[in-house]
Amino acid sequence: MFELINPATGETVDRIAELDDAGIEAALARAAAGYKAWRETSIETRTALLTKIADAWEANKQHLAERAVREMGKTITSAIAEVEKCISGFRHYAEHGPAYLAPTMVQTPTGHAVARWLPLGPVLAVMPWNFPYWQAVRFLAPTILAGNVALLKHASSVQGCAAAMEEMARAAGAPEGLFQNLAIKSDKVDAIIADKRVVAVTLTGSEGAGAKVAEAAGRALKKVVLELGGSDPFIVMPSADLDAAVKTAVTARVQNAGQSCICSKRMIVHADVYDAFLEKFVAGMEAVAIGDPMEEATVMGPLSSMQQRDTVLAQVAKAQAAGAKLLTGGTKIEREGAWMTPGVLADLDPESDVAKEEIFGPVAAVYKVADIDAAIALANDVPYGLGSSVWTQDEAEIERFARDIEAGMTAVNTLLASVPAAPFGGIKLSGHGRELGPWGLHEFMNLKAVMFA
Ligand code: NDP
Repeated sequence: MFELINPATGETVDRIAELDDAGIEAALARAAAGYKAWRETSIETRTALLTKIADAWEANKQHLAERAVREMGKTITSAIAEVEKCISGFRHYAEHGPAYLAPTMVQTPTGHAVARWLPLGPVLAVMPWNFPYWQAVRFLAPTILAGNVALLKHASSVQGCAAAMEEMARAAGAPEGLFQNLAIKSDKVDAIIADKRVVAVTLTGSEGAGAKVAEAAGRALKKVVLELGGSDPFIVMPSADLDAAVKTAVTARVQNAGQSCICSKRMIVHADVYDAFLEKFVAGMEAVAIGDPMEEATVMGPLSSMQQRDTVLAQVAKAQAAGAKLLTGGTKIEREGAWMTPGVLADLDPESDVAKEEIFGPVAAVYKVADIDAAIALANDVPYGLGSSVWTQDEAEIERFARDIEAGMTAVNTLLASVPAAPFGGIKLSGHGRELGPWGLHEFMNLKAVMFA
């Protein structure tokens, strides 16, 4: 059984039965049969289903959002926003599907060739708890459009959200085998990847899980997309609008209680504005409204689990042991559940072990740098390369950041967020491959050259 715990209270909210081996086998057989039929459907059939799924989510918005709040502690406001983003994701692929799948003609020495996008088969997704719907929809919507079928192994803590996603697809009229939620633990994943009916795997989560899944995919010579952690820099230069930068920095660090792969985790600030930034940033972090995640006014609820909270507290202690100053917060709130205050660390040695890690909670490290070269060098001095946010009015600096920050994404004078139309993914230990837009769709498709004399 999966026991789902509300991290705001520590109470059990649900118990969900694990799928046994016979159930997994039946699901794989349904996926294979479902794929045979779905691969032959027209684009119109696929986009119509995506629209119906979006409608089903729309009709169940509040129910879906409340489920996410109960299972992983995000605020109701952000859960509603997440469900709305999922709806826009389904609608995006419904609207742009035909263009994304349009064939391309090229001339050859003897005639011409047509490059056509064809489906591949059943794809497995291993997904995390932090955005329990959006992480999975980023995979599901393009999978349906591609003509593939989807198998979801969701995080153990959000199995209710996973089941609800399957219900939405069924309510929208998805055919059998198109989208199946596998209520399984991670020890079942290797065998599913090895199964010849599964053609590829995508994972969003930690490096450890990513390495294991990539290893299994490598053994089976199957394609893998990995969206792993990040330690995104948030760089503030002297010409930046400081108040806007501070406001966004606070949001960027405490959104989803700091548990987002693209949360800004390291604030890298030019010496000319460092003191002013730090003072306002500490004040901003202290002003974050912490409370019941079901209340609309709450900005930050609990972390997703006691274990996740304790991991972050241990990282704060490690940073202090390495000489960092804890300027505010970063401590446990004494009440039932996975609560802590937003924290700010200064003077953390960038060479210390903890400075190289992802802090998956509401604690920022603030660094002072002398110039843009030092800012970029520090930004790149971690094993990750997912996102970044840069604040400057100087065009030459913007170009330097866009070119030289080692990351899959750079946001300029704004909060970095994923959007359905833009590519999403990282480099270095943040993974490989891209999600969203045509790029995410094409990751798991067969680009066939049809050659004509
Ligand atoms: P995990 O990476 O362990 O979990 C993500 C998914 O991978 C879950 O579905 C999990 O299943 C599954 N999984 C875990 N181990 C394996 C394995 N060996 N083989 C196959 N599947 C596996 O994340 P955690 O929840 O443990 O969080 C730990 C850290 O990971 C965080 O502190 C954060 O740094 C990072 N993380 C990053 C995320 C991102 O968005 N990039 C999202 C979540 C976490 P199960 O839940 O059953 O273990």
